[in-house]
This record gives sequence, structure tokens and C-alpha cells, in this order.
Amino acid sequence: MSDQQSSIRLDHFINGEHARPSTGEYFASTNPATLEVLYETARGNDEDVDKAVSAASSAFASHAWRSLTPTRRGHLLRRLGDLIGENAEELAMSESLDNGKLLREMRGQLASLPEYLYYYAGLADKVQGSQIPGMTQEILNYTAREPLGVVGAITPWNSPLTLTVSKLAPALAGGNTLVIKPSEYTSRTILRLAELAFEAGFPAGVVNVVTGTGVEAGAPLAAHKDLAKISFTGSTRTGSTIASQAAERFIGCTLELGGKSPNIVFDDANVANAAMGVIAGIYAAGGQTCIAGSRVFAHKSVYDELLERVTERAQSIRIGDPLDAETELGPLAFEEQLNKVASYVTLGVSEGATLHTGGGRPEIGLPGYYYSPTVLTGANNSMRVVREEIFGPVAAIMPFETEDELVALANDTNYGLAAGVWTNNLARAHRLARRLDAGTIWVNTYRAMSPMSPRQGFKSSGVGIEHGIESMNEYTRLKSVWINTDEGPVADPFVMRG
Ligand code: NAD
Repeated sequence: MSDQQSSIRLDHFINGEHARPSTGEYFASTNPATLEVLYETARGNDEDVDKAVSAASSAFASHAWRSLTPTRRGHLLRRLGDLIGENAEELAMSESLDNGKLLREMRGQLASLPEYLYYYAGLADKVQGSQIPGMTQEILNYTAREPLGVVGAITPWNSPLTLTVSKLAPALAGGNTLVIKPSEYTSRTILRLAELAFEAGFPAGVVNVVTGTGVEAGAPLAAHKDLAKISFTGSTRTGSTIASQAAERFIGCTLELGGKSPNIVFDDANVANAAMGVIAGIYAAGGQTCIAGSRVFAHKSVYDELLERVTERAQSIRIGDPLDAETELGPLAFEEQLNKVASYVTLGVSEGATLHTGGGRPEIGLPGYYYSPTVLTGANNSMRVVREEIFGPVAAIMPFETEDELVALANDTNYGLAAGVWTNNLARAHRLARRLDAGTIWVNTYRAMSPMSPRQGFKSSGVGIEHGIESMNEYTRLKSVWINTDEGPVADPFVMRG
């Protein structure tokens, strides 16, 4: 955030219209590549959150929303997917300008984003209960799935639309209404998403967005008494606060949190492919992804070859303007991110690791928050640089000798989001898939993602499931209905049945 000004001001989106912040205050959003101010964002607070939750509560109770059949909700989601497709270029450009990720990566994300809406559009009318065998012949017992109510969604800056749609689509398919608090660094496309949802035909108040900081707008949303559910993607530290607040009110929470994922190269792997997988795992998106493969374990017999290949490619990565089609690595998203990454590398060296390549700001003549692709060697699991999430282009490459040793090292972490395995041994691939303690396992690939495939962080990486059919359960509740079909007299309850 910056104190500079811009003529473009973005307001909240509440009850189908733009709403000025109650304090009248805005803050500036800058382009991390050029440091230019792009626009000013409404600085929301508890009063704004209250208005948005109230709009979402009214919309949830309204005939306009309650009377829509699940099939009709599916139509609206499909229409929203179409509108996102029609506006994909504008949205991809906005995201790239906001967070510094490559325009071609954001174009790729936008190209697949309508699929998320279509997938949940298809699921909307397949959420159903079942009939349970009755306790007696006369009892009809069935289950029904119902919407929860107002869902609060709080999202980060690294893939703003994809991570927000991953919550919005199942929540709307399930019949809920939403208040979204996007990251203070990337609010623009989420406001556009709410506008497009309204344009698609979702009634006013079904999708609301309040912008602002985590403390001023996120915290009052997470603590709001009228929320039926909170769905959060972000750091483990914030997730822990949000989980405590949800627990106090006994509401459900879905948490998608941080990671420190292992990317493992066995001696039977195709090392050239594995090197590409390691590069994609840690340098794509500048390492600013929850699934970054930041702990690389290589079998000692292929360690030197892997290190050489990764180093060579890391040193030749084209760093530059994210809008340039030739660029392979853009800047980090904001100044604190840059400082955090730089200080972790300094810490790693002070802990005894060796800076093998990178470790500083590249000389590219651009003012943005750039950091060179970095490899640390000589690191081990006792070091903070190996234990804590850096969220930048920094890999620690470490050797191992046996599979058992590797499994112990890879699982020795507080996180459990994802793991990559590079091997040509089929039995080993399945064995590792079972033995690794992470919610997603990739074999001979990395960073693959689909709306159809459930994602769950184990340990400190999260609670609950995002994507897949399973995520519909996160946004609906199950009711058990008992009906006595016997119209005869009800037995006296104090006369014991034999
Ligand atoms: P963050 O926790 O700082 O912020 C995330 C969101 O929470 C933002 O909108 C922020 O404004 C808000 N927030 C901050 N403090 C809050 C509070 N006290 N109460 C309520 N809301 C608050 O995280 P970030 O830096 O924006 O994102 C990076 C983190 O997100 C990394 O740890 C990354 O691993 C994680 N992440 C996880 C996934 C996943 O699917 N598991 C995906 C992407 C990012």
C-alpha cells in the first residue's frame, strides 16, 4: 500500500451497486514492476462489513434468491463463466499489473477460469440427499442438503481470481450468499467479478465485496456474528486467528494455508525432466505460490547433475517486465515481500547454508521488487530457511540416500500441502504417494490443478477441502428428516414397548 494518489477510485460492491467507504478513505495500489500508482481502493472498516453482511443476509432470505432452483443457479454460474471468458484479457492484464505475475501466466489462469464456473454449474443440481433405511417400516428417514447462509470469503493476492472463484462457485452452487474481502494488494479483479456476477443475473446482495486491509476489513468480517461460514485462503498465521474466531461462534471454516512442499528426485528419475519440474515448482510465479516446491531432495547419485541443471536454468531465466511475452520471471508483489525473501536468504546463510546461486536483486535496470532465482545448498531440516515458508524464488536443494530417510526428511515439517516425486519406478511412485504426508501428490509433474480434483492441506496447511465434488459439502449442511407414515394412534411414551 502507498500514500500516493490516483484519479481512479474503486469502491466496495454492496447489494448490486458501488458503495463508497464509510470513512471516505482510500489507499493507493501500485504496480510492483514499475512502482506506479494504478488506482485507489476503498479502505473498508467494520461499518462497511456490516452493510455488506446485512445485504447478503437479506439476499439469502429473499424470494429472488430462494426461489431460484438449483438448475437455475447453475445457469447463472454458466453465464458468469461466459462473462469471465469474454472479459479474460482485461482481467488477466489487471491481475498482472496488480501482483507482478507474468501476463502469460495470468492469461493461462483466466483461460481455465470459466471451467471452474462450468464445473460447479453442473454440480448445482446434483447436490442431493438420500433415503436411509427406516427404524421401522412406518418411518421414512431421508437426508437433505441445504445452503448455510452468508459465507465470508477472505482471499490472498497471489492468484486473486482463481482462489476467489474456488470459493465463490461452490458457495453459490450450494445456494449461499457471499461477502468477499480480497487482498488489499489485488482488489480490482474481485470487484469486477462481483460486477460480472450481477450482470450474469445473480440478484443484488448475493455477491458483495468489501475492500481494505486485513485488520480493518478482514478481521471484522471473520468475526461477524451473522456469518454462517468463513472460507479463507492465506497465511497459516492469519488462518489460525480466523479458526479461533470461527470456533468461538461454532461456525465452519475452510482454510487453505501455507506450505513448504518437498519436490523429490530419485536416482531412477529422468533428471532432465525432474530439473524442469524443480524449476517450475519454485521459480514459476516467483515462488509466490502456496504449493511452491521449496524443499528439493535429490538422491545423492543424481544430486550433482540436478544441481547443475537447476543452477544453469536458474541463471538463464529472463527476468523483466511481466507484460513482455519473453519474460520468465517478474517482480515480487510488494516491498515487504521482497524484504522478507531477502532476509530469509541472509538468515539461511547465517544458519550455515551456502548461497549457490542468486541471492540478491538482479541488475536489470527496472525499479520493481525483483529478486534473483536462488539456490541454497548445505541446508538441513534444523534451519528456519528449510522449515518456514519464504514465498519467493528460493530453493534449498538437499541430498538423501535411502527412501526411508527421504520419507522421514520430507514429512519432518509442520506443513502438508503438496509433494512432488520424480521417479520411473511405478511401485515407488505408489508407495511414496501413500507415505508422504501431504494433501496433493504429483508424480513426474508439478503444480497441476483442476476444479475437479479436491485439494486439502494437511497439518498446518489447512482445514477442509477446496475443489472437487467434496467441496460442495463445505458449503452445504446435512439435515436428517424423520417422518412417521403411520396415521394410527401414537403409543403412550410411558408404556414400555416389549
Ligand atoms: P495473509 O494471511 O497475509 O492475507 C490473506 C488475506 O487475509 C488478505 O485478504 C488479508 O487482508 C487478510 N487478513 C490479514 N490479516 C487478517 C486478519 N487478522 N483477519 C482477517 N483477515 C486478515 O496472506 P497473503 O500474504 O495475502 O497470502 C500468502 C499466503 O497465502 C501464503 O502463506 C500462501 O501459502 C497462502 N496461500 C495458500 C493457498 C492454498 O490454497 N493453500 C493458496 C494461495 C496462497
